[in-house]
Formats: sequence, C-alpha cells, structure tokens
Amino acid sequence: MSIQKTLSIIKPDATRRNLTGNINARFERAGLQIIAQKRLRLTKLQAEKFYEVHRERAFYDSLCDYMFSGPIVVQILKGEDAVAKNREIMGATNPANAEIGTIRRDFGESIEHNSVHGSDSQENAEIEIRFFFSELEIIE
Ligand code: ADP
Ligand code: MG
Repeated sequence: MSIQKTLSIIKPDATRRNLTGNINARFERAGLQIIAQKRLRLTKLQAEKFYEVHRERAFYDSLCDYMFSGPIVVQILKGEDAVAKNREIMGATNPANAEIGTIRRDFGESIEHNSVHGSDSQENAEIEIRFFFSELEIIE
C-alpha cells in the first residue's frame, strides 16, 4: 500500500449529461483527493497522441473521434493505492460487464462511451499526468 497519483478523465458522454460532480463525489467519498483539475476539449491530434498505445486496435479511429467530440475534465486523483482504487470505482471497460455500483455500470452508455478513463499502472499514470499537467498546476 502506498500513496499514489493517477490520471482520471471524465469523458464527453459524461460531461454532456452533466455528470461531472456526481462522478467526482464517488472519488471523494472513496478517499481520493482531486489535486489538479481542468475542463478542456482535445484536438483530434491530441486525442490520437493520448491513445497512441491503441493505434493498432480496430476501435482506435472511432475512440479518438469520440474523445475530441466534446469537453472532457482531466484530473489527478491522489490517495492510498490510487491507481487500483480508481480502476475499481470505475468498473470494467464494458459497462455491461462492470460491477453494480461502479461508475461505468451506472453511467456508461457503451464500451466506447464509458464515461471515465483511469491510468492502468503507476508508470502510465506518470506519463499521462505529464501529458496534461505542468508541475505548477498540481496543488498538493
Ligand atoms: P480501459 O479504459 O478500461 O483501460 P482500454 O485501455 O482497453 O480500456 O481502452 C481504452 C478505451 O477505448 C476504453 O475506455 C473505451 O472507451 C475504448 N474501447 C475499448 N475497447 C473498445 C471496443 N472494443 N470498442 C470500442 N471502444 C473500445
Ligand atoms: Mg486503458
């Protein structure tokens, strides 16, 4: 167990339905602290860069188009085992397979429009945090 930071994104399907506060209440209730946050709209190029690891996947183009289709909220969550805890609160990638009470089960519209992103390892969390935030924007 250790104190970690992880990157969280509230995706366009969730900002469109005004779910930002509702989703963030779940993180805070679970003891994760939001130590950096901003609302923005990605360009197509930025979306492609962020999801570069998925470039070879069949859903890559559609995923990138979706991620720049509307505003997102990017944020850093900090707390005990934040990477795994965030993934647990989010639920499985496909909302249909996610546990009851998880964000994706409760709010996700489809496997692509699944409301939230969360880093999958500490190493990727560091890379993803650096992609969106400068040191000045992270207030611990
Ligand atoms: P996760 O977000 O749970 O880490 P992945 O890293 O595998 O999942 O995929 C990144 C994102 O790509 C997912 O959150 C989802 O928005 C989208 N995605 C994943 N699999 C599919 C799929 N089979 N069809 C369409 N979109 C998908
Ligand atoms: Mg992933």
